Amino acid sequence: MIQLRNVTKVYTRAKKTITALDGINLQIDKGDIFGVIGYSGAGKSTLIRLINYLERPTSGDVEVDGLVLGDRSPSQLREVKREIGMIFQHFNLLESRTVSHNVGMPLILAGKPKHEVEARVAELLAFVGLEDRGASYPSELSGGQKQRVGIARALASNPKILLCDEATSALDPETTRSILALLQRINRELNITIVLITHEMSVIQEICNRVAVMENGHIVEEGRALDIFLRP
Ligand code: ADP
Ligand code: ADP
Repeated sequence: MIQLRNVTKVYTRAKKTITALDGINLQIDKGDIFGVIGYSGAGKSTLIRLINYLERPTSGDVEVDGLVLGDRSPSQLREVKREIGMIFQHFNLLESRTVSHNVGMPLILAGKPKHEVEARVAELLAFVGLEDRGASYPSELSGGQKQRVGIARALASNPKILLCDEATSALDPETTRSILALLQRINRELNITIVLITHEMSVIQEICNRVAVMENGHIVEEGRALDIFLRP
């Protein structure tokens, strides 16, 4: 589903160069819940931005769903970006808009008719367990509820891949477990491949089948989560 071949990303800032990723090779299969773990500065966010094509690699290939991203036309790129949903540590909701508006935003931006947006939003809110909160504003919700809104928005355009950027790092342990259970349902029931980055081992142990450990722009270990982190 996602393949990185010899990917290097170098940033230049104030005449200094930083190698954020250094010759990364990685394969993420359809159906995986793939965890990328590492300390701050290891290169996890850079990896996610390359998969999302928010950034280009300095060298090497990033392939998503069978096509190398650099070879795609602008319209093919828009298409692949619709195949990827993303959720964030701080949820990134529009505070001045209702829950329903936030969830429907990708469909509104894609020019979908109003009745279609409304029907899909109702379906998504039911799926994440917020069917009665559509008219609320984000400030009226708990952290866990806000992340459910973020998840519903990410699912709006039926992605094949869900990228999770420290999606539970701002949540307490109990809320974290309920969000991870929701991610597991998304993986199983909707057949969505999940890539999550985290600095928390417990998150990997809870739901990931495969894991890559990053350090200083390198993958220092990669394999089945069970083999890498024996459960306590
Ligand atoms: P992580 O997500 O694991 O914390 P990042 O991918 O954010 O790691 O960062 C990896 C390295 O690249 C760090 O040294 C960081 O400072 C650097 N870096 C990330 N983004 C940029 C950027 N836009 N410009 C310059 N340096 C960057
Ligand atoms: P963060 O600092 O929250 O990890 P990033 O650096 O990955 O965020 O991205 C910068 C901003 O770009 C985010 O705050 C978000 O609003 C926007 N963004 C990034 N990826 C996406 C996406 N797939 N869909 C919508 N917005 C995005």
